[in-house]
Amino acid sequence: MEIKINDLSKVYPNGKKALSDINLRIENGMFGLLGPNGAGKSTLMRILVTLMTPSHGSVSVNGYDLINNRGDIRKMLGYLPQDFRFFTKLKTWEFLDYAASLSGISNKKMRLAKVDEWLEKVGLFDVRERNANKLSGGMKRRLGIAQALIGEPQIIVVDEPTTGLDPEERIRFRNILSELSQKDVIIMLSTHIVGDISSICQNLALLNNGKVGFNGSPEELISTTRGHVWQITTSGMEYETLKENYAVISTIPAEEGWEIQLVGDNLPTIDAIPIEPNLEHAYVYFMEYLTNHSNY
Ligand code: ADP
Repeated sequence: MEIKINDLSKVYPNGKKALSDINLRIENGMFGLLGPNGAGKSTLMRILVTLMTPSHGSVSVNGYDLINNRGDIRKMLGYLPQDFRFFTKLKTWEFLDYAASLSGISNKKMRLAKVDEWLEKVGLFDVRERNANKLSGGMKRRLGIAQALIGEPQIIVVDEPTTGLDPEERIRFRNILSELSQKDVIIMLSTHIVGDISSICQNLALLNNGKVGFNGSPEELISTTRGHVWQITTSGMEYETLKENYAVISTIPAEEGWEIQLVGDNLPTIDAIPIEPNLEHAYVYFMEYLTNHSNY
């Protein structure tokens, strides 16, 4: 599978430019779209799942054009929007059965077997008779995941996947996606939570203000931050000054003041110890860098 996004822009009717000249090539595996709220992630995803048309540019999926071959592309898609809701009084299993038939599984026996399989996978088998709109928030989210995946789509688009999931559910969800990503599929997930991306995405794009600030592997992003992350033990007063000039990532109380980790362009003090960056450091560094460079 391959998605090519060429010079894509989106201007909303009110004049808001939500995406500017996006160019990305996405291949099999897990692809993370990372950026703060308002960066344009949902807009890009809604375009990719054919719910919205771009103002400029094109997208092709395995050679199919997003606008001219909408029907073909829709057959390959599974989508879990950010605000997935149930406007129905169907039971949990009925809802999934409905989603399965929409995805084209017409044989009833096969469909019911699939429904049971997915109810098990997302841990909803025991509540299968409950009305879908009576499920808890986390359960609804899991049902949303199951409805997006039951038709075995080749392109899976998930907007802010872990919203409303507790830690155990996050792990379960991550494992389901990791398993799927071994196949000939593209899984694209958007998030503002670095932890959603770090362990599972082979590639990512950083989106800020509707523009791609970085596109590559998590390791490549981390390596751009090497030499820009430090740990310092500092007193209260110095802490305030540092906070004004650097992005503070973590603050832990120490015997005399604070032990802090920060990112920035220049060595903060000679007492600072350089440390190995992780994806969170890299994300913060990149965002600071992008926001502080006016030509971006
Ligand atoms: P994200 O998913 O990264 O939080 P969005 O794609 O939802 O970002 O939004 C990108 C920008 O476009 C934001 O500034 C948002 O306020 C704006 N926006 C989103 N939807 C609309 C809309 N329907 N009309 C006008 N502006 C919108």
